Amino acid sequence: MAGNEAWYDVIVVGGGHAGCEAAAAAARLGARTLLLTHRLDTIGEMSCNPAIGGLGKGHLVREIDAFDGVIGRAIDRAGIQFRTLNLSKGPAVRGPRAQADRRLYRMAVRELLAEQANLELREETVVNLLMSATEACQGVLTELGNEIKAPRVVLTTGTFLRGLIHLGEMTIPAGRARGQREGLPMDLSASAVEQPSTGLAETLGRLGFGLGRLKTGTPPRLDGRTIDYAGLERQDGDDPPNPFSSLTPRISTPQVPCYITATTAESHALIRDNLHRSPMYSGQIGSIGPRYCPSIEDKVVRFAQRERHQIFLEPEGLEDPTVYPNGISTSLPRDVQLALLRTIPGLERASMVRPGYAIEYDHIDPRELKPTLETRRVPGLYMAGQINGTTGYEEAAAQGLIAGLNAASDREFVVDRAEGYLGVLVDDLVTLGVTEPYRMFTSRAEYRLWLRADNADQRLTPRGVALGCVGTRRAQMFHVKQRQLAAARAQASELKATPSALARDGIAVNQDGVRRSALELLAYPEIGWNAILSLWPQLKSIPTDIADQLAIDARYEGYLARQRRDIAAYRRDEALALPPDLDYGAIGSLSNEVRQKLQAHRPTTLGQASRISGVTPAALVALLKFVRRAA
Ligand code: FAD
Repeated sequence: MAGNEAWYDVIVVGGGHAGCEAAAAAARLGARTLLLTHRLDTIGEMSCNPAIGGLGKGHLVREIDAFDGVIGRAIDRAGIQFRTLNLSKGPAVRGPRAQADRRLYRMAVRELLAEQANLELREETVVNLLMSATEACQGVLTELGNEIKAPRVVLTTGTFLRGLIHLGEMTIPAGRARGQREGLPMDLSASAVEQPSTGLAETLGRLGFGLGRLKTGTPPRLDGRTIDYAGLERQDGDDPPNPFSSLTPRISTPQVPCYITATTAESHALIRDNLHRSPMYSGQIGSIGPRYCPSIEDKVVRFAQRERHQIFLEPEGLEDPTVYPNGISTSLPRDVQLALLRTIPGLERASMVRPGYAIEYDHIDPRELKPTLETRRVPGLYMAGQINGTTGYEEAAAQGLIAGLNAASDREFVVDRAEGYLGVLVDDLVTLGVTEPYRMFTSRAEYRLWLRADNADQRLTPRGVALGCVGTRRAQMFHVKQRQLAAARAQASELKATPSALARDGIAVNQDGVRRSALELLAYPEIGWNAILSLWPQLKSIPTDIADQLAIDARYEGYLARQRRDIAAYRRDEALALPPDLDYGAIGSLSNEVRQKLQAHRPTTLGQASRISGVTPAALVALLKFVRRAA
């Protein structure tokens, strides 16, 4: 696809979670891809918590994996505690999550990228974009003065755009603190932080991108050898641990426990007494942080009635004694952070190896993006990750995948809201924009019963295979699984029993004389696979993973009939494309407010228009009539 003058088909700037996924995806599609990043040794760095997955986020990981992405395979190699969140609830809202050994995670990402054909990694800082006479992006300029050309560039610069760290009254221009390395100080001194990206932020401003500012924060890091675990609640992972990737047969990394402690009344009093020294409350930070991942000072203020806030003590690695106290993200000054630790059971004598901090950074308005994550303003320029106003590794990786696949192909590749959380994420961003760091939740998806973590491969791998981004091994494994599932389904629908026969085996159903199949019986929440096996032992030959899938699919089948109708209606609206140059001024019956909103958003489909706040059903009818008349 690239002309002869281009050195690469795709350049990806940034080696974080968005960048790695974007580069790997583009290369899987056969594009000659270059990943440029500040430092090769920070590729795959987890800037904050050493964990992947969780509610909604775990779904994203499974979906990226369905396209043969990196994140699921990497966490399977590096995970030191796997836990399924919401295990007591239905499979649709369960969230697979794993704690990572940070070093093993970086290594796994590096290994996976090194194995990837068509992909080159280079350590260089990008300071500007190269533009053609028609104002399309055609490459990058690096700090060393190198002009590197490619018709498609993906920016994934994370928290680095004009990054500014806050620690109490102190501010430090930086993209983030450097990860733990041998011989590196674990403070926030010049050699322990990574430089911010100012050149690129200026470029984006010059190109006319509206830049907003957001903030996020991280807790102090502790020396685990100084924590007193006696008396703390121990939390073990699932046994056996469940891999994220369908390519991983089983987890072989040793598994370790976490411990749980909590803040006390004394902690809360200390925080309240020192609020004036917190940059968020002193006015030093004006930007908005993630509502669902608040700092401890925020929690104490917002939930003043709560007497304690839980803290999960998460090990950062098998050989690394550092512990991540999940739940006390803070930007209070160092002395207050130390005093705070003294008030928390188990941490009274803990030594703090690095203080927590907050960071402010620039982001673009994601409404500037098409659903392919290409910017509307600059053809050939794509953006993915925290730069688009999101927070989290999984959200970043998900956008990286979509941007990378689109940058490498001349055909648009869009996952819709009924196909995956990937679609929900991108559609929310490009349609609604962000007012705070965006993170994924299962509640954001309309079609949750269908969009389950367990069926991500069934939903999406066929699309990946058709697109060409799924390797032979995964494609073969997927086809085998589909064949086994179809055979198991057929067998389970043929085996039938009458209610009285079932009653003899202790299975109570309506005594209506209707013979029910094993598959139909699996839809009853109280009838498990073991009960089915006791009735029909011949089903024992079905492999466990296939039986699990069969049971979950059967359980949801009844509810899915209605969801399928909703999805069909949604798809009808999505199929009605709105011309990019649509003259909203010519639609007489629109109110000024709605007209302005539509003009500003320029939705690509009627469905997308319907999700813009304030666009009324009457306005949609007017829009529909206008477009039909004009067609
Ligand atoms: P990053 O992982 O930040 O990667 C950006 C990459 O771009 C880096 O490799 C960098 O070196 C490179 N880069 C930047 N500029 C240039 C340039 N000009 N030239 C070359 N390379 C460049 N997430 C949560 O879900 N919950 C949290 O509580 C949370 N807290 C956080 C706290 C802190 C202090 C930080 C820093 C992040 C936090 N995050 C949190 C966010 C999480 O780290 C990010 O969402 C995720 O890492 C974003 O991935 P990304 O790929 O977009 O960017």
